[in-house]
Amino acid sequence: MKRGKLYICPTPIGNLEDITLRTLRVLREVDLIAAEDTRHTIKLLNHYEIKKPLTSYHEHNVREKGEELISKLEEGQDIALVSDAGMPGISDPGEDLIKLAIENDIEVIVLPGPTASISALVVSGLSTEKFSFEGFLPPKKKERKLRLEEIKDERRTLIIYESPHRILGSLEDMLEVLGNRKLAVARELTKLHEEVFRGSVQEAIERFSSGPVKGEFVLVVEGNMEEERVEVDIEEELLKYINQGLSKKESVKRVAKEFNLARNEVYQRSLKL
Ligand code: SAM
Repeated sequence: MKRGKLYICPTPIGNLEDITLRTLRVLREVDLIAAEDTRHTIKLLNHYEIKKPLTSYHEHNVREKGEELISKLEEGQDIALVSDAGMPGISDPGEDLIKLAIENDIEVIVLPGPTASISALVVSGLSTEKFSFEGFLPPKKKERKLRLEEIKDERRTLIIYESPHRILGSLEDMLEVLGNRKLAVARELTKLHEEVFRGSVQEAIERFSSGPVKGEFVLVVEGNMEEERVEVDIEEELLKYINQGLSKKESVKRVAKEFNLARNEVYQRSLKL
């Protein structure tokens, strides 16, 4: 018997136009659409005049629903998996169904499309060469700080999802654990109140402390640059003072004070000059 296929269908993260022609075709052609929230997905389907049976597949019914969907796929039904926004499986239910389908020899076909993570990374202006997707940080402060400690040495750009009522707390913990790094806060991407704030963690705290914080957010944080930066900065800064006619000793003192560094560390660097 012909087995069905599981299509992973990304949907818009705000602007309804952000859906591919292929995704629309697949949504029209499948036998069933498994959606994270059927009430949410119906709006998208109505917009594109797609009439299809919908069933819910969300984080609380992953197991039972997963088995049920696999049976339907085995019976030959083609199923499209959609989440509320973006790419199913990226901080969304999907991962379990995909694993289950693979275990049951069901063909899984992914359709490329929107995800807030990559859009935010690209518009951040930070390095896109290597990056680490961190999903959501833990909601509780203690666990969140531990998580930040774990990733503080990561050199790749960090992509973090955050909810509006936790963003300030997270930024404050970042300042404490990661330091005052460069970051971009991508808010309400593709929507009416779209905004990309670029600056330091401290500046972001100031920006988002001024009133109620609303919308959906992705934080894109520069990876740990410490060593490289200190290396370059110390030597350059020392030379700046030395070229002004100050002694090496005095230059070391000033640079250490200015950048809050151990004097011995700066002294050791001055020996290389
Ligand atoms: N699967 C989705 C994806 O591919 O991006 C992510 C789903 S996750 C449950 C929802 C989180 O994604 C939000 O809390 C926010 O961090 C981020 N997000 C979704 N839409 C966004 C948007 N339009 N602008 C900024 N962040 C967004």
